[in-house]
Amino acid sequence: METCYFDYNATAPLRPEAKAAWLTAADDLWLNPSSPYRAAARVHAHLAEARARVASLFAVAAERVVFNSGATEANNAIFAHWAATLPPDAGIGVSPTEHPSVLAAAQHFFGERVIWLALDGNGAVDVAALQALLGERQIAAISVMAANNETGVLNDWHAIATECRAKGVPYHCDASQWIGKLPLDRLQTCDFLTGAAHKFGGPKGVGLCLIPAGNSGFMSLHGGYQEFGHRAGTEDVASILAMVAALEGVERGSAQGRDAFLVELGQVLPAVEVIGFAAQRLWNTALLIMPEFASVRWIRALEKRGFLVSAGSACSTGKQGPSSVLAAIGVQADAMQRVLRVSSGWATSAADWLALAAAMADCRAELSSEADDSTSTIISI
Ligand code: PLP
Repeated sequence: METCYFDYNATAPLRPEAKAAWLTAADDLWLNPSSPYRAAARVHAHLAEARARVASLFAVAAERVVFNSGATEANNAIFAHWAATLPPDAGIGVSPTEHPSVLAAAQHFFGERVIWLALDGNGAVDVAALQALLGERQIAAISVMAANNETGVLNDWHAIATECRAKGVPYHCDASQWIGKLPLDRLQTCDFLTGAAHKFGGPKGVGLCLIPAGNSGFMSLHGGYQEFGHRAGTEDVASILAMVAALEGVERGSAQGRDAFLVELGQVLPAVEVIGFAAQRLWNTALLIMPEFASVRWIRALEKRGFLVSAGSACSTGKQGPSSVLAAIGVQADAMQRVLRVSSGWATSAADWLALAAAMADCRAELSSEADDSTSTIISI
């Protein structure tokens, strides 16, 4: 049975050009780029070239690019940096729909000084309310993601970046779900930017962040002068080159397949709800509230038919926890138990989307005739 992968927002397969770049570099460029001999300088030159290619893709100076282990590290490091450099009573504006690596870092470093930003009905940050807040309160920094990993709903990050710049307030944008799916131009207006290679076809465990030019104080990891002193640790040159190859090779998708799926699903399972249906969303994502049966039962039944989908909420302990994103947009607790997230990528065809709708109809028939044993299952997203 062929597998139809519908969980690109969790991670994407390695793109062929990324794999080729990684294999070549693992053979040819394995020396430590900081070693003193000429052979290592060659590795360092490839690292510098990778940085220049990223700088060119984002239209920024190379000094703004810091390679790291991914979005979780970048998000934590940016809040740590703010905690170390902003006034001790500083308030930080954060969207309540951020990824847990932003929410937890914000709460860890700023506690009660986190000011939760107002949302519209789809979970996008209300830009007018944010503007008003910036006018009336002392906010020292803002963190609002570009595209939500669960709902796919887009924030108007460019308007937020512009407003923050006008007010002299540093702005961080977690663009992990945007990069590789939507255009990179204008992202350079964000002071701090986060991305993870495995979301766009690069290897896992490598990522990048953009920091403001001339920011000598930013320190992701202490203990060495790599990354111009911004992040200690021997660089994983092979993974960095693979990440850059993936980013350069990524093809823009369209919402056609996803939208045809939603029309078809509306025919076969008319009671399905689509979260954020009316909002500007990523072209690859649909977050569904199924009319009946727990998410885990759908996931299992679909997997039996070769379809890999996920629930909307992240959990690591084996119990389905409520999704903070869905809670923030007012989804009721019982509906949260029935959420499915489907997210496509470059290997997904229009036929795959239609086959998924048909499989969901089949699963419903199967689940209706089955006893519920959903409580013992581990899901990790
Ligand atoms: N931010 C967003 C929006 C994400 O979707 C993810 C991954 O799920 C992360 C951050 C964390 O990425 P990583 O696990 O690669 O550090």
